[in-house]
Amino acid sequence: MSSLPIDQSFVDDLLTLPLDELMLRARNVRDAAHGTRVTFSPKVFIPLTMLCRDKCGYCTFAQPPARLEKPYMTAEDVLAIARQGARTGCQEALFTLGERPEERYDIAANWLRDNGYDSTVHYLHDMAKLVLDETGLLPHANAGALYNDELAMLRRVSPSQGMMLESLRDDLECHRGAPDKEPQRRINTLCEAGELAIPFTSGILVGIGEERRDRIEALALIAAAHAKYGHVQEVIVQNFLPKAGTAMHKAKPCPEDEYLWSIAVARLILPASIHLQAPPNLSDDFGILLDAGIDDWGGVSPVTADHVNPERPWPALDRLGDVTEDRGMVLAPRLTIYPEFATAPEKWLDPALHFPVMDRTDAEGLGRDDPGAFWPEKVTAADVVHDGAEVVLVGHKSTQWYSGSNVKPMMLVPHPRPAAKGRIAEIIEGHRNGQELGEDEVVALFTARGPEVGYLADYADELRFNTVGNNVTWVHNRNINYTNVCTYKCKFCGFSKGPLSLNLRGTPYLLTLDDIADRAVEAAGMGATEVTLQGGIHPDFDGDYYIDVTKAVKSAVPDMHVHGFTALEVTEGANRNGESLREYLLRLKEAGLASLPGTAAEILDDDIRAIICSDKVNTEEWLECHRQAHSIGLHSNITIMFGSVEHPRSWAKHMVVTRELQKETGGFTEFIPLPFVHMASPIYLQRKARRGPTFRENVLMHAIGRIFYHGHIDNVQVSWVKIGTAGAAQLLQAGCNDLGGTLMDENISRAAGANHGQMMTEGRFGEIVAPMRRTLVQRNTAYKFLSPTAGA
Ligand code: SF4
Repeated sequence: MSSLPIDQSFVDDLLTLPLDELMLRARNVRDAAHGTRVTFSPKVFIPLTMLCRDKCGYCTFAQPPARLEKPYMTAEDVLAIARQGARTGCQEALFTLGERPEERYDIAANWLRDNGYDSTVHYLHDMAKLVLDETGLLPHANAGALYNDELAMLRRVSPSQGMMLESLRDDLECHRGAPDKEPQRRINTLCEAGELAIPFTSGILVGIGEERRDRIEALALIAAAHAKYGHVQEVIVQNFLPKAGTAMHKAKPCPEDEYLWSIAVARLILPASIHLQAPPNLSDDFGILLDAGIDDWGGVSPVTADHVNPERPWPALDRLGDVTEDRGMVLAPRLTIYPEFATAPEKWLDPALHFPVMDRTDAEGLGRDDPGAFWPEKVTAADVVHDGAEVVLVGHKSTQWYSGSNVKPMMLVPHPRPAAKGRIAEIIEGHRNGQELGEDEVVALFTARGPEVGYLADYADELRFNTVGNNVTWVHNRNINYTNVCTYKCKFCGFSKGPLSLNLRGTPYLLTLDDIADRAVEAAGMGATEVTLQGGIHPDFDGDYYIDVTKAVKSAVPDMHVHGFTALEVTEGANRNGESLREYLLRLKEAGLASLPGTAAEILDDDIRAIICSDKVNTEEWLECHRQAHSIGLHSNITIMFGSVEHPRSWAKHMVVTRELQKETGGFTEFIPLPFVHMASPIYLQRKARRGPTFRENVLMHAIGRIFYHGHIDNVQVSWVKIGTAGAAQLLQAGCNDLGGTLMDENISRAAGANHGQMMTEGRFGEIVAPMRRTLVQRNTAYKFLSPTAGA
């Protein structure tokens, strides 16, 4: 033991402390590092070959050729499983296989040669690529002890790889016939994977003849490899169970206490950042594994059996969730690659895998958790469809919910068992006692899952009721997007077109002042009280254009509230005229402008703006425009466009800077989250963004917004055009009190691929609100109630 890279007195503690004490310490380490979250990977298992050159005493996976129909699964077999996985929303294709069967069995060598492969690993590479390309499932290669070139080849198609270290003992009876279980071979593989920056899974097997000190030694070695390379993402602690037909069928199973001791010791030896996994299907009472300090359940398949332990079926996901929640923890699906690695792709992923991984992640780098089929999106150019979406999807269609899609979201609110403990409960308790949320608290709240989401939604709903009562407001308005020609190149924008000569995707247009006036008159005739003016930044505009547009509306309909011009349009107009922001805004106000939309804020974090809208106003310029507007009596709102490339830290920064301005000016009337609609946006088509926020993230953005701005901003609006009416109904129970505008002629979300139509009516708003026993109230832009039921 003296050679271990850990302190001897610590080892003595591990060997002498009572199990209860060790488990308590392990839980504390887990809770501090990972909070209440327990992850699992929804996956399919693909047993590429059950031939193996090794013969381990406990293994039922490896079979002799005579017992198998064919030596390797064919490409069709592989794809059939993977497609089933994609249809059921799995994230991962776990390739399990024997080690180097071609070196033991002629039938394997011949099959590989006949099919054009020089090794099993070569075939694995091609099958992993096939699965990735055809189904989008992320492969995890579990190919045993490999050499550098083999690991490097698989790194191009498999975002993570794994190999159980099992044990460092070289005299175990069960490994006598297994040349690949020679400890130094496995240590070399672990370290080579580190050299190649491969997110790696390893682990130990408990109860195969090794002793406690041996386990400590194996875990210390994994910890040392991780200290050097930082590449170990998870460690599996697996218990031995005897199986019929194996050499060890008469051996005793690993005793539960021994197993729990090993898990707790693993948690205490390994760096806290390494995730710790124990498979739930190998223990009858698997909840106790949480008590020993794990934070991951490993792969759970709705489709395929555990081929390594076929006699032990996976617990149903509902049961896994119940057992987890019974201990005050929450379940979250992950990818094969953990968030710490998925969110640092330059270091940990081959460039070809950056997008396939990003495409499946949520803002934290975990797996998207909306249920339904998930396929890679393949698009083709469509006919010119004027100002609408210009791409059409081909091939398999995903059925998961996205902002802008027609799919109904899963029911998150109201939650049947809302609950929270740990950090989230502490933060909300603090808020109830008058503490303001800061950036770190917001980031922590965005980790909420399952019952925690219900807990936050309920608190936000309570604050909503206390602030504005049970009215649900709406405004009768019309959007006038006066041009879609724009000199800016915001990467999320599917609306703007270049000049006609450069336009490949649609029809540029510019409304005349008469067109704009006519639309305002038409809107007034239909009862609109507001027109919202927004458009591209046309190269021919000078600052007076925006003033002329405002005057055109006001002279046609003097009573119309002109809500118009983003901080970009205002800043650009002032610059083009050589005026100060204040002078220019005063002239706009004199022309009849009454308020500004918050759009163009996108994400007020300049690192993210550099990616999604590098040439647009920066954070300070956006804030300054609204500061000046407020100072002359023009009110405005706060929007946030979320779910493209950024993470919750950026959302928190956005909230903090806007709340600071609100404290200074009091000029913001509402908070409007605008989920990114990915379908036809350039940045998604270039494979550089996520598919917008998940529905859970939408719920959280609205609920946390209500909590965060409480006492400063009274109104939180849900954007029905991006979230749909079914989603809007849930968000009205998660802190929202406003449904926004009727939006006749909404074009911008539709151009990005949203399907929710261009207009809403009072009747349709009423249908959303009626089941909640809330009162629908028409308002004007400044939240003055207009309908007779006001205040009811
Ligand atoms: S978001 Fe606005 S500024 Fe950016 S490209 Fe689109 S129309 Fe132009």
